[in-house]
Amino acid sequence: MNKKTNLAKKKTPISASVIENSDLSEDLYRHFYYTLGRDQVNKSQRYLYQALALTIRDRLVAKCRATNQHRETTPHKQVAYLSLEFLMGRALNNAILNLDLAPQVTQALTHYGSELEQVAAAEHDAGLGNGGLGRLAACFLDSCATLKLPVVGYGLRYEYGMFNQSLEQGRQIEQPDHWLHEGHPWEIAAPEQSQRVKFFGHVEVYKDKNGREHRVWVNTQDVLAVPYDVPIPGYRNDVVNRLRLWKSEATEEFDLSEFNAGSYPEAVAKKNQAEQITMVLYPNDASENGKELRLRQQYFLSSATLQDIIAKWVKQYGEDFHNFPKFHVFQLNDTHPSIAVAELMRILLDDYQLDWDKAWQITSSTMAYTNHTLLPEALEKWPVRLFERLLPRLLEIIYEINARFLQQVATCWPGDTQKQRDMSLIEEGPEPKVRMAYLAIVGSYSVNGVAALHTELLTNGLFKDFYALWPERFNNKTNGVTPRRWLSHCNPKLANLINQQIGDEWVSDFSKVNALRAKFDNKSLHKQWQQVKLDNKQALVDLVKRETGVEFDATMLFDVQVKRIHEYKRQLLNILHVIHLYERIREGELEGFTPRCVLFGGKAAPGYFMAKLTIRLINHVADAINNDPVAKPYLRVAFLPNYNVTAMETICPATDLSEQISTTGKEASGTGNMKFMMNGALTIGTLDGANIEISEAVGLDNFFLFGAKAEQLTQIREHYNPNEIIANSPNLSRVMGLLESGHFNLFDPDLFQPLINSIRDNHDQWLTAYDFDSYVKAQEDAAALYQDQSAWTQKSILNTAASGMFSSDRTISQYNNDIWQVQAIEFNKAQGERNA
Ligand SMILES: *Cc1c(COP(=O)(O)O)cnc(C)c1O
Repeated sequence: MNKKTNLAKKKTPISASVIENSDLSEDLYRHFYYTLGRDQVNKSQRYLYQALALTIRDRLVAKCRATNQHRETTPHKQVAYLSLEFLMGRALNNAILNLDLAPQVTQALTHYGSELEQVAAAEHDAGLGNGGLGRLAACFLDSCATLKLPVVGYGLRYEYGMFNQSLEQGRQIEQPDHWLHEGHPWEIAAPEQSQRVKFFGHVEVYKDKNGREHRVWVNTQDVLAVPYDVPIPGYRNDVVNRLRLWKSEATEEFDLSEFNAGSYPEAVAKKNQAEQITMVLYPNDASENGKELRLRQQYFLSSATLQDIIAKWVKQYGEDFHNFPKFHVFQLNDTHPSIAVAELMRILLDDYQLDWDKAWQITSSTMAYTNHTLLPEALEKWPVRLFERLLPRLLEIIYEINARFLQQVATCWPGDTQKQRDMSLIEEGPEPKVRMAYLAIVGSYSVNGVAALHTELLTNGLFKDFYALWPERFNNKTNGVTPRRWLSHCNPKLANLINQQIGDEWVSDFSKVNALRAKFDNKSLHKQWQQVKLDNKQALVDLVKRETGVEFDATMLFDVQVKRIHEYKRQLLNILHVIHLYERIREGELEGFTPRCVLFGGKAAPGYFMAKLTIRLINHVADAINNDPVAKPYLRVAFLPNYNVTAMETICPATDLSEQISTTGKEASGTGNMKFMMNGALTIGTLDGANIEISEAVGLDNFFLFGAKAEQLTQIREHYNPNEIIANSPNLSRVMGLLESGHFNLFDPDLFQPLINSIRDNHDQWLTAYDFDSYVKAQEDAAALYQDQSAWTQKSILNTAASGMFSSDRTISQYNNDIWQVQAIEFNKAQGERNA
């Protein structure tokens, strides 16, 4: 404790280097005994976790301040990444890894008789997202910090994140996820930087002294947006960026006026209404929510973020916005925050009196839009009537943007009124609607898809008219995942083995993992590679046993499909194949049978009937198989409840075969596919999303490809006759026969009829029956290969070696080179001294 007395004497302010040099054990002790007031190790590890998180946070805060100071003293362009979802998972181990503190932490914990693994398990996942889109945002933040790019994430601090899933008799049960219950030690509130966000009210027109007409949005009901900052550490580079999450609160005068009127309960009720905005994450993945509260969330995030950034601009440069586009980019993660286009216009027009053309020039050279889906049901459209009531001034601005845009359309396609209707930001009909994706395209200088096929389908399908008008706006940015969380952290044994083989530079330059390729046939590497996989599989065996009671066997082939449950992702096709394997076992067709464990995991949106029914079918089939002693040596099936980031950290290192079996043209990219590949899984998949690029990178010899191709789809759908396909396929007939006999629903006749009907429907969008036979064939190839462990291991190594381009570092470099063009943060010496 000597340092502290010295410090007090010298009256030096606490600075980055002081914290860095202070003893981690002492800091942990201080937080445990004083900050938290504990004096013995709580059995739950909870307080030890909290004390450790605060100890690590001190170090992050110091670096975050230095990063901020750098930004403020040497003004550079910066990016605001706007996303309604950030699926962060746990933070502790990631921070320890990126700050390189593992040895010190391990040492400090020995005083408490504890180990990092147990302490880390006390952290609750930050589940502020549904699935791939939210996890992508989290991987991007890690890569931005690692590449030293000045990028700030902006999102919502939902009180309740993604629901917790449990199973009751095979049914999904949703429980609220009150993740903040035990506090969130990583965040720091900054109430002094709160913003006011307007809702309702009406628009008034006034003339200024020069006779110029202006509009004001008045009589509004304002809500306070309070920022909470979460530090985002780069990998061993001293950069710590920020994720700023907004919480909604009532403004003070809300209460005042009501109090004065003597209506205390009404005042409290209004307060609750304001706080509702950030209460809960909408649990729909890849489908529209359509609820007023969701539009409020979108506007709340967009408005608070833009006001925050503009307030800082005005403080620094005054009301001259001329150079604003040289210093700011707003990247919109899907259509969700696209109202930001109209909101930036509103701020510039109404709050700072810019004229339309100037405001539009600034807006349309700072906004950039990422599209994430081709599914029509996911394209957001908001009723004009709702806009009119909730955001009247924004609707006016959208109308004006549209009027000017449609003039351009008319110039480009003279006399083509149908084209104007097709491209209008307002969809006509009995209930006119605002097309949010179109607003985003018209208002952005960059529009990108998230995999090569997806971007191609956007430019020659969904957005082809816009592509004709502005081809230069469109570009592709194939998704990626961070190799820190998805290899170094989640698979330390494989990471160490790779280090031994090729050194450790791959962690921050993942293209270097390609050096493993040369060693794909090294027999001693094979042995170690197999041992690592076996150990990882044993950890998954334990997890599955604990959570489901099902006994997996680590010597069997681990066949895994974990992702949101959705018809387009085709968990149904997978379970039909499981039934096919079961039929083979029942019929004694065991020649060449490779024993396998099939794992499913994923949440269904609470209102998505077919997805929930699919979960029930999986569980009923699993029960039948797991309780049949004849099947036991050959086949085991489990549905792991509550799939989330932390579960995936145990699952992907243990997987042999990664199921990426969506209907071609439906999965924009996928990122689960990349996590599995990095960890040495082989993929069985369709030519959809990033699977195409994965198969090209690793070669089709090392990938189990099946199913219809994108260019065949129109033709297939025209003449689609699944009943004929079933009749002509002995395997599929047999599977449908067992399913339709009620074998899996003896006490509940007709339970699965809706699923059966969907397979047999000529309009089945998902083409389940069409792809079944080729899927079975690809599964047979995989099973046969698995029996030759040496051949399998070669391909496993080749998959990891070829996964270099699926790092989100590569993705973010491309965003920066092609879209953002911001400078990496370089701490200069003077700065270092200032902080010391
Ligand atoms: C990676 C990830 C996803 C995305 O998986 P896809 O297979 O790409 O749909 C969803 N949820 C979690 C928890 C993830 O880690």
